[in-house]
Amino acid sequence: MLQFTLNDEQKALQAKVRDFAVREVLPAVWHYEDKEEVPLFLLKRAFELGIMNSDIPKAYGGQGLGLLEAALVTEEVAAACPGVATSLFDNSLGMEPLVLSENETLKKRVLPELAGQFKRICFATSEPTMGSDVASLQCLAERKGNRYILNGTKYWITNAGVADYMTIFATIDPKTQHEGIAAFLVERDWKGVTVGKSLPKLGQRASNTAAIHLQDVEVPLENVIAEPGKGFVLAMRTFSRTRPIIGAFAVGAARSAMEFAIDYAKKRRVFGSKIANFEAIQFKLAEMYQKVETARLLVWKAAWEADQGQDPTVSASIAKFYATEAALEVGNDALQLFGGYGYTRMFPIEKLLRDIRLLTIYEGTSEVQRLIVSGHVLNGYKPVMPPLEDLPMVRRLDLGNPSSQEVTAWRCRMCGHVHYGPEPPEECPFCFFPKTAFKQVWPRAEG
Ligand SMILES: Cc1cc2nc3c(=O)[nH]c(=O)nc-3n(C[C@H](O)[C@H](O)[C@H](O)COP(=O)(O)OP(=O)(O)OC[C@H]3O[C@@H](n4cnc5c(N)ncnc54)[C@H](O)[C@@H]3O)c2cc1C
Repeated sequence: MLQFTLNDEQKALQAKVRDFAVREVLPAVWHYEDKEEVPLFLLKRAFELGIMNSDIPKAYGGQGLGLLEAALVTEEVAAACPGVATSLFDNSLGMEPLVLSENETLKKRVLPELAGQFKRICFATSEPTMGSDVASLQCLAERKGNRYILNGTKYWITNAGVADYMTIFATIDPKTQHEGIAAFLVERDWKGVTVGKSLPKLGQRASNTAAIHLQDVEVPLENVIAEPGKGFVLAMRTFSRTRPIIGAFAVGAARSAMEFAIDYAKKRRVFGSKIANFEAIQFKLAEMYQKVETARLLVWKAAWEADQGQDPTVSASIAKFYATEAALEVGNDALQLFGGYGYTRMFPIEKLLRDIRLLTIYEGTSEVQRLIVSGHVLNGYKPVMPPLEDLPMVRRLDLGNPSSQEVTAWRCRMCGHVHYGPEPPEECPFCFFPKTAFKQVWPRAEG
């Protein structure tokens, strides 16, 4: 059964987060954006309200909410501030490898702790020299007895500066690419762990992004999230579940930009009329709304697939790159609609636009999403139509007239010319390819 309505629990969750976003996040964010600091008190409040870490499975003491619920929550928080949404949701990103891990002892130790206490966990694949190409990471993990020793630098790590736990991807040998990658749970206060200065950014300044330097960090075997050889797949499975949520960030941020634009269009008077009366403005608003609605449907579909236990990889990529690029267009159009005021820091549009800009970059750039989808289109997708060389589209055939079915038709594989007769011609009269270029398309071969 296909249905798009939310159930009562989902509606209640949405209402609770909406209230938190409008009454508590919105008034706080400009200050923290200016200070370039994570408003930790808001994350703590979200944790107390059951909004943060809500995806920890019930078996480990969590609420066990699905990805669809995560999308609902994220849209509302991102509508108030995408930077706060990134800081908040980063716990789910950091935790997901643990949730998917085969190390039950570690899961039983750490997940209940994250469900019960306000602790942050970040996720680190990226390094100064690589981001998109995860298989080429360099951070080294050397096995020594009952420990791994980590050496290397992780870069761009959201919440690194405020994290208690770090999910670190490292390799036993960089030359082996995918085959050497493992994942480890590292604690912030362990010897050899240093966090860099907070990176100054264009947007999402209410989120913390920093490097993690690991020097001879000793990780006990109990803290192995994924054994060498299993880390790369784990990172990819994680992204398949977290990319729809980046799409939800985009839906929330674009929705706010659109709402502010609607409000402004109804008030701003130009040439003796409200700008909402101009058809060019009306069409812009219509397109903004269309993009927000379309993006949400794609996000919900990807989240629904994940919740059904299906592999959401392709839908997650589509949702991410459509929603984030649509949000960029909506934010840009909203700023244009505000005229000069849109360009000032006195209205929220310039912040939204700067915040949205990141969404097409982290958790796999738009280009990387296109690589994933094109890989599926070219190699995995099962077409309904027959291959071109078997195409039974024959002009002289009148299937309403039974005698017409006597026709034998041959199709030139090169130029598509259809020849009628018991045999193919010696050569094609259009492209001059030889007889062997022709394939019989009617009567069609059985099966
Ligand atoms: C604010 C912020 C927060 C982040 N948070 C985290 C985090 O918490 N954890 C983490 O691990 N990482 C994080 N990242 C890193 C982020 O995931 C990477 O920046 C991103 O994956 C891109 O990697 P890169 O910057 O190294 O770009 P590169 O991989 O060097 O790519 C450069 C450009 O080339 C394009 N490109 C690459 N390969 C191809 C190709 N095959 N075909 C066509 N184009 C291609 C890319 O799309 C991009 O436009 C964060 C980044 C930022 C900016």
